[in-house]
Amino acid sequence: QKDEWEKLKTAETLSKDGVHHTIAANIGTPQDIQAVLDNGAEGIGLFRSEFLYMNSAELPTEDEQFEAYKSAVSKLDNKPVVVRTMDVGGDKKLPYLPLPAEMNPFMGYRAIRISLDRDDIFRTQLRALLRASNFGNLWIMFPMIATLDEFRAAKAIYNEERQKLIDAGQKVGDIKLGIMIEIPAAAVLADQFAKEVDFMSIGTNDLIGYSMAADRTNERVSYLYQPYNPAILRLIKHVVDSAHKEGKVAAMCGEMAGDQIAVPLLLGMGLDEFSMSATSILKTRLLFKELDSKKAAKLVEKALQAQTNDEVKNMVEEAMDSLK
Ligand code: PEP
Ligand code: MG
Repeated sequence: QKDEWEKLKTAETLSKDGVHHTIAANIGTPQDIQAVLDNGAEGIGLFRSEFLYMNSAELPTEDEQFEAYKSAVSKLDNKPVVVRTMDVGGDKKLPYLPLPAEMNPFMGYRAIRISLDRDDIFRTQLRALLRASNFGNLWIMFPMIATLDEFRAAKAIYNEERQKLIDAGQKVGDIKLGIMIEIPAAAVLADQFAKEVDFMSIGTNDLIGYSMAADRTNERVSYLYQPYNPAILRLIKHVVDSAHKEGKVAAMCGEMAGDQIAVPLLLGMGLDEFSMSATSILKTRLLFKELDSKKAAKLVEKALQAQTNDEVKNMVEEAMDSLK
């Protein structure tokens, strides 16, 4: 039993019928990297760069950030590391960057909205990332993208900083640029985003909350936090299909990616990368080994026609044995 667990750490993530999917890890700080390696992740699908800003008394300098990103990509030994640019605001506050009091901080000034407004902060982060890209396989992801204009504006700033470094005689790696899909408007237009980004990663924690207009930390409405609601499943399917139509990577880095009920559905949709907390990796890899992707795809067709979250949940639970 223990041997089998050990073997799983270095095993490929294959479904029963031999289809490969990537299992990556979510991390908050570089201290999490050891657990990622110990559990055999095939990369880091979400590096929440906020820690650099939140664990600091002032804005982290370019060099401080460079060292942190460099250390992460070096440790991952050429496996992809997706660094998400600063996602503060909402409930994440920075003492040295006073944000205005807002009625709805989760719908307010946060993440890419701050980065585009305070492009001085954003450019510093991008330069650090560009420099670190020479030491491994670094991808950059923008959080809370709502519109194509935002992505284009972020990409334009990235390209300017990239060019400046090149003009100054510095080398930069080949970086993939992507976005988080966590705002429903972006999920709906995923077909258009897919033409312009290198990859999309679905942030179900926020996507479910915004789609259902329900805050899961509010007990009175937490019943509306429904990952298997067919409305959510249809959005996810649209994102995955849109990415594939353009030959782009479809990933997920919200909690749902490691949810044992959701995994058969996501496998059936053909999601490429599942990024989760390190502790979920091995059990998910084991689950993959037991599931047939074609049977899972059939189940998805049924689930998309269901009406409620519970209906889908029961459907998956009942089908679990026949998916094997
Ligand atoms: C998400 O929204 O699903 C996500 C991964 O981002 P965070 O949990 O950091 O908001
Ligand atoms: Mg989010």
